[in-house]
Order: sequence, then C-alpha cells, then structure tokens
Amino acid sequence: MSVDTAKNPDHAPVPAAGPELVRLENVTKRFGDHTVLDGLDFRVDAGKHVTLIGPSGSGKTTILRLLMTLTTPDEGTITVAGERLFPAPAKQVREIRKKIGMVFQHFNLFPNMTVLRNITEAPVTVLGLSRDEAAERARELLELVGLADKCDAHPGQLSGGQQQRVAIARALAMRPQVLLLDEVTSALDPELVAGVLDVLRDIARSTDITMLCVTHEMGFARDISDQVLMFDAGRVVESGPPEKIFGDPEQERTREFLSAVL
Ligand code: ADP
Repeated sequence: MSVDTAKNPDHAPVPAAGPELVRLENVTKRFGDHTVLDGLDFRVDAGKHVTLIGPSGSGKTTILRLLMTLTTPDEGTITVAGERLFPAPAKQVREIRKKIGMVFQHFNLFPNMTVLRNITEAPVTVLGLSRDEAAERARELLELVGLADKCDAHPGQLSGGQQQRVAIARALAMRPQVLLLDEVTSALDPELVAGVLDVLRDIARSTDITMLCVTHEMGFARDISDQVLMFDAGRVVESGPPEKIFGDPEQERTREFLSAVL
C-alpha cells in the first residue's frame, strides 16, 4: 500500500509492496456543499491488510461505500485489479463487484433463511455454483468462523457476535479478492467483540485475502495491519506501519486522536 503524499509533503511515500489491487486517484466526494473526501489518492497492494482510523465523520466509511459502488465519486477514478470500477460501464462494474466482499456494522443477514442458505445464496445466484458446491464451501467457512454446528439455525437464534461471524463467512463465500470491513464490532455487546476479532485475526493470518478495514479497535488494528492510514476531514493525515502510527506518530492530529481513543 502506498499513499500519494503530494498533499502531505512531510511524509515519505510508502513503497509499494506487491501488485496493486485497489487504487483511488484524486477521488473527491461531496454531499451537498460538504466535501467528505478531498482529492484522495491511495493504493492497496494484493494480500495486504490496510486499516483506516480517524475520528467519526472523517470519510472512512465513504471510501468502503465507494468501493462497493453504494455511492459514486464526484471526481476521480477507482481501479480494482487493473480494471476501472469508476467511471465504467454497468456490466464492467458488475464483474468487478464480484471481486469485492463487505461486512457491515449491522450484519444484514436474511432473517427468514437458515445460516447455510444465507451463505450459499449469492454463490449460487451470482457465481452459478451448484447448491452442493456452495453448501460444501459454506460448511468449510462455518468451520473457519467457529459455527460449524449452526448451519440450520436462523439468524434470530444467534447472538450478535455469531451473526457477524456468519456475515464474515457469507462475504468470504464469494471468494472476493478484497474484503472490506466496516466497523464490524461496533454494534456488538462488549463481551462479543473479542470472538469476532479473533476470527478476523485468524482469517488475516491463514488466508491471502486483501483486507481494507475501518475500525475503532486499535489493538486489532495494530495486530493485523500492514499499513494504517490516519484520516481527518477527508484527507490522509499520516500513514505507515502500525508500530510507527501507534508507537511513534509524527503528526499532532494522530497523537491527539490516539490519546482520545486508547
Ligand atoms: P467515518 O466513516 O469516518 O465516520 P463517513 O464516511 O461515514 O465517516 O462520513 C463522512 C461524512 O459524510 C460525515 O460528515 C457524514 O455525515 C457524511 N455523509 C456520509 N454519508 C452521507 C449521506 N448519504 N448524505 C449526507 N452526508 C453523508
């Protein structure tokens, strides 16, 4: 991952570590006269885990929503695996979207479907897998998230933490190249947070999936990240490896933010 530092001349650029998977160039997003992202440039390299931190309202979730095509930029370009996601024709967008998985703050499971069906539905309808293939993959993923015995349960019978682990399995069932995680523990009761973060740590360790993660869990960010980006007011204030950002931040804004949340 590297950050274009043209707007932050104090910071040395972070060298690219591998093949580029996601690139945002000069991305600006406004809501009315509020500029939420302001000429943002950054890239995420394949296999890396990149975490976005910063105060509420600084534009972190908007970046994930842009990548999910839930909203579009006012200016700039977005490229995923070498192909243009924005601007691009609808058919191309649909194809690229298959490479991107997202887990939301609120799990958004289908309440009337079993856990297994929640996970198999998109692989069958979008990727064209057979029900059997999709079910086999779903069972492996349920094992990975520690819920092998919950195939036949409905979401309403599960705790919030278990539902979020199903949502993680559901996202992975599409075999995305990049997994977007949007404050995935912030809607959970405190005692359920650790279980979900442990599952994500495991996935970060045991798979080669690229992760782009918005989180307020600084310990988790420190553990899994290759790069941490500190946001403020739609800009990257500072970026670097977690040891640097959490251990010896350069920017006053980063220090202020961390002392408020740690
Ligand atoms: P963060 O994830 O850093 O908390 P967001 O990306 O969610 O920040 O939001 C950035 C800013 O954009 C906030 O001020 C938020 O109120 C505003 N915003 C986000 N989505 C919308 C929307 N659909 N309409 C209007 N303003 C929005």
